[in-house]
Amino acid sequence: MAKVNGATLMARSLKQQGVGYMFGIVGFPVQPIAAAAQAEGIRYIGMRNEQSASYAAQAVGYLTGRPGAALVVSGPGVVHGLAGLANAQQNCWPMILIGGASATHQNGMGAFQEERQVQIASPFCKFAHAVEHVRRIPFYVEMATRYSIYGRPGATYLDMPDDIILGEVEEENVHHAATVADPPRMQALDADIEQALNVLESAERPLVIVGKGMAWSRAEDEVRAFIERTQVPFLASPMGKGIMDDSHPLSVGAARSHALQEADVIILLGARLNWIMHFGLPPRFNKNVRIVQVDIAPEAISQNVPAEVGLVGDGKAIVGQMNKALAGRQWFYPKDTPWHAAIAEKSAANAKQIQPMIDDNSSPLNYYRAFKDISAWLPKNAVIIGEGANTMDIGRTQMPNHEARVRLDAGSYGTMGIGMGFTIAAAVVHPDRPTISVSGDSAIGFSGMEIETACRYNLPVKIVVLNNGGIGGGIGHLPDDKTGIPPRALIWGARYDKMMEAFGGNGFHVEDPAHLRGALDEAMAHPGPALVNVLLNPEAGRKPQKFGWHTS
Ligand code: ADP
Ligand code: MG
Repeated sequence: MAKVNGATLMARSLKQQGVGYMFGIVGFPVQPIAAAAQAEGIRYIGMRNEQSASYAAQAVGYLTGRPGAALVVSGPGVVHGLAGLANAQQNCWPMILIGGASATHQNGMGAFQEERQVQIASPFCKFAHAVEHVRRIPFYVEMATRYSIYGRPGATYLDMPDDIILGEVEEENVHHAATVADPPRMQALDADIEQALNVLESAERPLVIVGKGMAWSRAEDEVRAFIERTQVPFLASPMGKGIMDDSHPLSVGAARSHALQEADVIILLGARLNWIMHFGLPPRFNKNVRIVQVDIAPEAISQNVPAEVGLVGDGKAIVGQMNKALAGRQWFYPKDTPWHAAIAEKSAANAKQIQPMIDDNSSPLNYYRAFKDISAWLPKNAVIIGEGANTMDIGRTQMPNHEARVRLDAGSYGTMGIGMGFTIAAAVVHPDRPTISVSGDSAIGFSGMEIETACRYNLPVKIVVLNNGGIGGGIGHLPDDKTGIPPRALIWGARYDKMMEAFGGNGFHVEDPAHLRGALDEAMAHPGPALVNVLLNPEAGRKPQKFGWHTS
């Protein structure tokens, strides 16, 4: 009779559940799982830190609709992997973390890297469990997959002790599991849909907010149809960008603050009124704003601001329902309203305010001047990864997205260090699209060693580092007395391009604005990984803000 071991059964079960990618770092006791994954046809990418492996796994989950797997060793490996679990959970992105564990018969004895792994993973997971018998591996993998993508997506954890990985069972004794189907799409009650449209029709200053829940739901066609049919202006959340083309005439992107503050009815589509949306509260929002909220998680409805109508279910299904119901109505939001005019006026004023910075050719560059060349250079179908403080915030406004699920950034959890993992994941999932990462010099440092990973797999990623010599806004200058280095300071002009060259990729260093576009073009022309290090003025900042971004 044929026997199968735990490692092979794990790999087969993942493959059966549509898990096509695994990111990890091998060692005791998980090495056999990685080998089995490759043998079973799962794409295995060896990373340099478990954080990046778990960031990459969740990006795959978001981009493909099936969870990515991260494979990590026991103890410290799992602890590092928790960073990604927490990020996935906050972003509502699916992934499965598989942690090796010391053998069960050594539990409590002080085994090598022994840790209470299920316990520490649980707060960051929808489902966390130890596999206690080889024959039950398919059962647990099915459950981890289903929990990661059904309902609000999120993270799951499976603990694989050494004796389960190496243990064998007769194939006929394996408990087989069904393949998890794509999530069923729940709809709302027709009466609630009508109610939602009634609220919308009564609006004077309506606004649609499009969040990454819609991207996950693959609702881009329905959302576009809804917005174009109703002619209501829309605001994209940071990663909701691209579900509607950023250059769409109904986008309020350049008048974000004004639109949020003045809207009297908001249709909230797969987005949360959390810190990113200033909690939906005054002074950033109208205190009498009425909310129609679409979300897959019932308990998310009315968070921070009571929703007048809550539509619980799948975004694609529910917006489709609204579109159907609109067919029976004459109403659309008129073109010649003061609301459209005010948004257009505000957008123009904001554009005018930043124009001098875009046109400023002094050396070293400011952010806006750098983004002028970067956005002109970006291919239209690029996947864009942004991280850093100013680099990410300004980049979000200056680099347009034209399609759904092509922008990845620090996200709901505000995690720095996601960039390289996301970049590698995007390049692996989308060999057909250019993968561009624009990172601050602080942000690239968290996971910079993954540059070696990108080179090892010869992934054609193009990384731009905006180098202002510091965390966030840069340092301005060192203190005169040289008694200390400011906490925010990094080496200004450090040659991150040389790191890329050290591993065999192409590096470029730019100090003069006149050379930026040429360097970017050369980086793109080179077939493999490339990094363009751009010296920025340490005093460069954002345009003056009426409100602080992170706190209000
Ligand atoms: P953003 O950062 O873009 O505002 P959030 O992550 O804050 O987005 O919110 C996304 C919301 O989308 C979450 O509340 C989540 O429950 C919801 N969501 C996830 N999947 C779906 C889906 N298929 N349909 C509708 N809503 C969804
Ligand atoms: Mg910096």
